[in-house]
Amino acid sequence: AKAKGSGYYQVYNKSISRQLSEEMVIEKYLYDATANEAFALEYQPFVDMKTGEIVETEALIRWYHPEKGFIPPSQFIPLAEKTGLIIPIGNWVLWEACRQNKVWQDKGYKPITMSINISALQFAREDFIEVVKATLKEVGLAPQYVALEITEGIAMENIEENIVKLRQLKELGVKISIDDFGTGFSSLSYFARFPIDSLKIDRSFIQNITNSRQSQTIVATIISMGRALGIENIAEGVETKEQLAFIKGESCHKAQGYLFSKPINPEDFEKLLSENKRY
Ligand code: C2E
Ligand code: CA
Ligand code: CA
Ligand code: CA
Repeated sequence: AKAKGSGYYQVYNKSISRQLSEEMVIEKYLYDATANEAFALEYQPFVDMKTGEIVETEALIRWYHPEKGFIPPSQFIPLAEKTGLIIPIGNWVLWEACRQNKVWQDKGYKPITMSINISALQFAREDFIEVVKATLKEVGLAPQYVALEITEGIAMENIEENIVKLRQLKELGVKISIDDFGTGFSSLSYFARFPIDSLKIDRSFIQNITNSRQSQTIVATIISMGRALGIENIAEGVETKEQLAFIKGESCHKAQGYLFSKPINPEDFEKLLSENKRY
């Protein structure tokens, strides 16, 4: 039994060190990718529930490594946050998404809002507002066509400081969305004090709508609370017609999800714009 035990320990030990070195390899690749801006963005539409039109899009980062292949953001964003690389990566995402939106506007398509994920570390930087301002100026995009997606956590930490920061961003003219809403522990009363434009209702609630009364209640409550506070509602991860029917019945403003489109490359997204796609 002893031998078996130590043998097991060795295997276990090896697999941990394999995992560690794997992470170190990816970390090294991530430095290279950041230095070379070797990322791409995909775009996923948000559909207006009244008109069926595409009114907004979320920029989602993609990393295809020549040897490793596709590495999902769920794997490398946490590593980018740990190493601080999220700052140059985030700045690149901001710039590229704004640049792309400006290109589409200049081609004469109906203007849409570009929604951009902002890491808490980016938001916390003292120069964040300056970076946003400088990017918009450099790219020549009007701020009203940008929405910054921040997570609920930001509403929980350094509340007074963050309210000031959000107000400054509002003054700049960009929109603010709370991403994955409902998964954090923020008190709803905070949100009355936060200058927020939209709540993105987390996918987990939308996914359970058809089989859980509880999820139905949560979604309906978020939507009516948003409405009462003058905040727009966006349903994330809508995959089925039943889910769509429910959120429409609750008068949700916008929806995003595979039912309409997966995130797609800029060329394919531009096709949707050029054909004035309606859902
Ligand atoms: P998120 O911000 O909540 O983004 C939505 C994620 O849900 C995306 O995954 C999207 O592809 C996926 N999704 C959209 N509709 C559906 C649906 O109907 N069903 C299902 N099952 N999934 C759907 P993705 O692109 O893998 O991104 C994962 C996360 O990585 C994002 O979650 C976000 O937290 C982070 N991320 C992505 N791009 C960036 C970025 O540029 N900067 C930062 N800081 N984080 C990013
Ligand atoms: Ca998001
Ligand atoms: Ca989300
Ligand atoms: Ca999420």
